[in-house]
Amino acid sequence: MRGALAALAALALLAPAWAARAEPSSPLRDEIALSGDSWLVPGAFNPGRSPDGNTVILKGPKGAILVDTGRTAGHVESIDAALRRLKLRPVAIINTHWHLDHVSGNLALRAANPAITVYGTSAIEGALTGFLADSAAAARVAISSGSMPVSALPDVQGDLDTIARGRELRPDETVDENRDLVLAGRSLSLHVAERAVTARDLWIYDAAQRRAIVGDLVTGAVPFLDTACPEGWLHALDAVAAVGARQIIPGHGAPMNRTGFARWRDAFGDFIACARGSGALETCSAGWLAGAAEFIGTDGRRAKAMADYYGELIRSGKLDGYCRA
Ligand SMILES: [Zn+2]
Repeated sequence: MRGALAALAALALLAPAWAARAEPSSPLRDEIALSGDSWLVPGAFNPGRSPDGNTVILKGPKGAILVDTGRTAGHVESIDAALRRLKLRPVAIINTHWHLDHVSGNLALRAANPAITVYGTSAIEGALTGFLADSAAAARVAISSGSMPVSALPDVQGDLDTIARGRELRPDETVDENRDLVLAGRSLSLHVAERAVTARDLWIYDAAQRRAIVGDLVTGAVPFLDTACPEGWLHALDAVAAVGARQIIPGHGAPMNRTGFARWRDAFGDFIACARGSGALETCSAGWLAGAAEFIGTDGRRAKAMADYYGELIRSGKLDGYCRA
């Protein structure tokens, strides 16, 4: 059971070891203005809670585009409140990847705005019958056996409800190859990364703002490697670096400039190389904590526990299956 618990860590379908005391649901988070009629609704990763990814709102002449929709009801309320303040109606959602902290909000947002068109890759098909189905089964076992901490139950039950409606998370428009398109009257380039955070991720380049919105290809405190091919992920970061963005919006954490992104990428590359090597794994997590310190914030203990776990995940070869086509 321990392995099953660990295997679901970042998606936090099961309470991970570092989820000690749960904090109450986070209060509503106000949007942060970015240049060019764009806003960030910050995600959160509070102690004992499952994470919400960031949401980016892009305003166009014909409505708003949402990049990712978070996990919790509180995050969706934050998006709704921002849209009301900005007097915007969403017409499109772009999901960077299928992890539940980025797609769960689709359900409520689509119910409230039936005209929304969802863009995403086909990778969710494999996830619905594979990782998500397995996670749900393991979570139900943990709940019925009493090994699920009570504090984790609300978030986990929310995820189980979302997975039960998993077919509704499928995109209306499947984007499996790079594509330039005009959404809500706004020109965007959708880039596909193969075998990176998931089997196929999307990241968005807004050339007019020189901004890359990259989902979990960049995450503040720790890279969520649960369903990742580390080498494919590094390759995707090369593509992000080559696009010429001045600003990078990560899937979790604050916006970065080019040099901040370069430092994060270096720390990530060093962590992967270390975990692929043969030295002590503790040196890998210590290296991550030092190299990524500016992105980790105050919760170094959790970041260390997660880096320890992911280092072991890489070293054990358990992720290698994600690198095969
Ligand atoms: Zn995420």
